[in-house]
Amino acid sequence: CGIVGYVGSDDACDFLVEGLRRLEYRGYDSAGVAIQPPPSGSNSDSESSDSESSGFYVTRSVGRIASLAGKIGDEPVRGALGIGHTRWATHGPATEPNAHPHLGGDGEVVLVHNGVIENFQVLKDELIAKGYEFKSDTDSEVIAHLIADALKQAPETAEQPNLRYLTAVQASVALLRGTYGLAIAFRDQPNLIIAARFGSPLVIGVGRGEYFVSSDASPLAGRTERIVYMADHQIAVLTPEGFSVIHRDQGKVRVDIRPLEVGS
Ligand code: GLU
Repeated sequence: CGIVGYVGSDDACDFLVEGLRRLEYRGYDSAGVAIQPPPSGSNSDSESSDSESSGFYVTRSVGRIASLAGKIGDEPVRGALGIGHTRWATHGPATEPNAHPHLGGDGEVVLVHNGVIENFQVLKDELIAKGYEFKSDTDSEVIAHLIADALKQAPETAEQPNLRYLTAVQASVALLRGTYGLAIAFRDQPNLIIAARFGSPLVIGVGRGEYFVSSDASPLAGRTERIVYMADHQIAVLTPEGFSVIHRDQGKVRVDIRPLEVGS
């Protein structure tokens, strides 16, 4: 199982699919990507494959990455932000609706998750009582709706527009028991990826005007020479302009950017 993410000005989809191929060795039963199409409508030929008003172009497939790539190849979407996932099913069978990415709320949040959320049933019951509709059997979808719900409470700050999203992610992961590697994107903040880690490996690839998220270094080879290994309880905020890492409850972290050693 594995996670990839890209934010920058290049084509996200190429990195995501190639990155997922390089993570294939970790094992998986299904895969998927979500791309944020550019606002200009330059993808006007392609419709979002999900009916929700997420704006994200979501493609999911059971089986090999090649079959996901084939599906995408039929209708490629050019966007400069995206997340991708290979799933090793723990909650719910290996079906297309259970494949990640998962949308939260009315589609304002999309995420990929590696790991297991032990208290997902309690959280799911609470979210259903609040009116959230679940489309999958996964534990992961709970996190997407939790973040959508937390966004309703997080105040907007004009000077720091990303802070609201960080606050919502912080509040949401604080409710989780279990393990997670997460990459999260937002309909209304099209240049932002937030990554969070507890118990599932996650690295950041540091480029120039572009940043990568991955479960390990292999997807980054040939794309960047600089890598940051995230530690447990860390949350990373990535935009084309830069990135920062925050400890879940201790504030900003001094990041240690290391040279990428191929084969590491
Ligand atoms: N527990 C999640 C699921 O069953 C994520 C599995 C994974 O790590 O791939 O969908």
